[in-house]
Amino acid sequence: MIDLLKAIAETKKLHPSTKIIIISDANDVFIQTFLDNAVSFLNVDKIISNYATYCGDGLTLRPYQVQNECSICPPNLCKGSALTDYMKTHGPFSTVYYIGDGANDICPCLKLTEKDTAFVRKGFGMEKVIARGKLKGNDLSLKAKIVYWDDANVIKDETCVFDKKVADKSSI
Ligand SMILES: [Zn+2]
Repeated sequence: MIDLLKAIAETKKLHPSTKIIIISDANDVFIQTFLDNAVSFLNVDKIISNYATYCGDGLTLRPYQVQNECSICPPNLCKGSALTDYMKTHGPFSTVYYIGDGANDICPCLKLTEKDTAFVRKGFGMEKVIARGKLKGNDLSLKAKIVYWDDANVIKDETCVFDKKVADKSSI
């Protein structure tokens, strides 16, 4: 995974319009702390997550939102609307690569188009929901290319080929 993140960071340097966003049901303090300590080279553009503030010895959590418009997401975070809101504000984007594992990663994948890719982690909730073809009674209609992964090199090969093409052209 570290190799993948390094490759993504390099890709972003070559193509500065690339955006890296994290949409997580954890919390912003946890994610920022992880990024600062484990992958400080990764220039993340946006963290969309529940809010945490230090309070005494612990953290006080607040939901990212309180929503009831999306029936397949929990009330505290609809990852699909978070993704589309970000894309409306910062896009358009030629391609979206979405990496997920949980059932709550299905909603944003329903927003993806034929130009996009959803990376589905093998053995986790997202893969099981896709195999069922239904979530909370709703039929799934995924337009994006689906790539199953249990090795981050699979994602690296699909997303960071841009670098190789640029390198190949420049070496001719
Ligand atoms: Zn949703």
